[in-house]
Order: sequence, then structure tokens, then C-alpha cells
Amino acid sequence: MQKHVLIIAGDGIGPEVTQVGKQVLDKVAQKFGHTFTYDEALIGHAAIDATGNPLPNETITKANAADAILFGAVGHPKYDNDPSAPVRPEQGLLGIRKALGLYANLRPIKLFDELLSASSIRPEILRGADILFFRELTGDVYFGEKVRSADRNTASDLMVYERYEVERIAVKAFEAARTRRKKLCSVDKANVLESSRLWREVVQDVAKRYPDIEVEHQFVDAAAMLLIKDPKRFDVVVTGNLFGDILTDEASQIAGSMGMLASASVGDKIGLYEPIHGSAHDITGKGIANPLASVLSVALLLDISFGMKVEAETVINAVDKVLKAGYRTRDIADSATDTAMILNTEQMGQQLLTALA
Ligand code: NAD
Repeated sequence: MQKHVLIIAGDGIGPEVTQVGKQVLDKVAQKFGHTFTYDEALIGHAAIDATGNPLPNETITKANAADAILFGAVGHPKYDNDPSAPVRPEQGLLGIRKALGLYANLRPIKLFDELLSASSIRPEILRGADILFFRELTGDVYFGEKVRSADRNTASDLMVYERYEVERIAVKAFEAARTRRKKLCSVDKANVLESSRLWREVVQDVAKRYPDIEVEHQFVDAAAMLLIKDPKRFDVVVTGNLFGDILTDEASQIAGSMGMLASASVGDKIGLYEPIHGSAHDITGKGIANPLASVLSVALLLDISFGMKVEAETVINAVDKVLKAGYRTRDIADSATDTAMILNTEQMGQQLLTALA
């Protein structure tokens, strides 16, 4: 099969981990007789530096010409410390999600058994946890009207959802639940927020089309508690942009590290695949970033955008094999890890390529 992939490596550790993801794609192409061609594009701080724009038009044009996008991360400390900067790296990411209609963010949360001890949660609570989050990605406070009063002392962000926005992500989540354990939890704050009352109403309506799926509704505060107390109770979770952002970072602890979690942002056309972590300024340039989230993003890309299920499984099995062999990056090592088994980004990439071969 011939496919064209756009690489948008972005900022910070983005290029470091995406390079490993691309090597894995190349290895898969070689092993299974596919041809993957690539292009590259700028976003975030790298794009601001080069063009003054966090999302140059050229990036959108290249994205529309691709079959899938492998994404790194955006962000730079300069902007984190200056909340009033009008042009910001994350505008690039929010902009590309909107421009490509990527309204559903899928985040599988599954712990590799070998990493049970890397999590701060007790192994007996974690073992067997397998959650698929659907985070809505193009609505909510991220895209609602933002206002600052003339005296600068009052600020507001409008939390807004339209019926069709909730319905289309609910349908995706219900469909996914059908292929899994047939349980769906919708998370909102319907006891307080009108936008959440609409969310719940729409999910209840969509649920009527899926009588085979067991549905529950949780308030976001309770869901945050239950995720840590009993993660195994969840199968598919569907929630809004803000709640999903927070809950999936919390859930990253179930997987042991931010460096282990992949995500897929999809709409009705192209898909964008990225680690859930950011640009990690604290370790940028040190060559120690964990590339496994990028590699697992490649597995999602192969599965969802290219329909290559066997190839995707092969990538996940390679990650499993490397972890079983005892190799770790620093973020997933624990006190029992032999220091000789702690690898840098490039070495971890090499182990994966060997496992794939
Ligand atoms: P972060 O995810 O970049 O880092 C949080 C912590 O996790 C850091 O200690 C970091 O070293 C560690 N970490 C993250 N990924 C890792 C990896 N692959 N290997 C090893 N350790 C890893 O979040 P942050 O520090 O809150 O944000 C840093 C910047 O990233 C900010 O500018 C923020 O705006 C941006 N950000 C971007 C995205 C994105 O591009 N999707 C997401 C979140 C944050």
C-alpha cells in the first residue's frame, strides 16, 4: 500500500520523539512491503520563529494533501511565563484541530504489565485497567468567546457546546464501545453547567440507538476520584474538551508516565496522531525523552487511518517486547531498574527497530 504521511514535529522534545516514530513507520513499510512517503511542516514556536505565524497556511495545505499526520508537541517556556503574549504556540495546535475538523480525540489508557511498578497507583488496583477516552476537541471553553474587562480585572471564557458537536462524538464513542466491553461512561458537570445539561441530554438521546451498550453518567469530580480508586470499572469514557484534557492527564498515571500515552485526533477525514505529552522543556535537548508515546501513536495511525491492524499490533508487540526485555527510559524506570537498562531516546528507538525486525 502507498501512503503519504505529514510529519509535524513541532517544539521541544517533539522532534526527538517523532524521529523515532518515523523510523518505526519506515521499518513497518519495509517489513510489510508498503511505501510511505513523507513531507514535513512547521507549527507552534518553531513556526512563529520562522514565519511569525504558529500555523502557517502551508502547513494546512500539506495536511490536506496527506493521508495521515504524525505530530510531536508544541510549546516554549517563553510563552508559559508570559500569559499575555498574543501569538502563542498552542494556537497552532488548536488551529489545526479546527481547520481539519478533528473533533474527536481518542486516548487509549492501557498499562503494559511490565510498568505496573512505574505507576504511583497500587498494582492490584491497576492490573487489567483498559480505558478508551473520547475527548471532544473543537468546542468548549477552548473555542468559546474570551473576554477581559477594560480595567483588566475580570475575565471569562465561554463554555459552549452545540447539539451536533455532542452528538457526533457520542456516536463515535458508542460505536467504539460496541467493539469493546460495551460500557460507556459520559462525564459532565450537569448539576452546575447548562452546557453539561445539553451534553447529558444529547448522550441520553444517542444512547437510545445503542440499547446493547450499558451507559452511566458521572460528574467530572466523581469521575476524577473513581479513575484513581477503581480504574477497571471504566471501558469507554466520553467527555468534553476541558474535562477530557484534565482527566486524561490524570489517567496517564495509570499508564505509568506521560511518555507512554498516545492519542488520535480524528474527524470525518484525515487523522492526526500525537503523544499526549507536551514539549517537556525540562528535558528538551538532553536526548532522554521517552519515544514510546510517539511510537504508540504510530500504531494508532496505522490502525485507524490506514486500516493496517496487523501492522499496528506488530508495533504494540514490539513495545511490549522491549519492555519485557527490561529496557526503560528514565521516566519509566524505578528503583529496581538496573542502570545499564536505562536507555536514551535514540537507544530505545534502536531496541524497537530490532524488536520489529
Ligand atoms: P509536558 O507534558 O511537556 O511535561 C510534563 C512532565 O512530563 C515533565 O516533567 C516532562 O519532562 C515529562 N514528560 C513529558 N513527556 C515525556 C516524555 N516523552 N519522556 C519523558 N518525560 C516526559 O507538560 P508541561 O510541562 O505542562 O508543558 C510543557 C509545554 O508543553 C508547555 O509549553 C505546554 O503548553 C505544552 N503542551 C503541549 C501539548 C501538546 O503539544 N499537545 C500538551 C501539553 C502541554
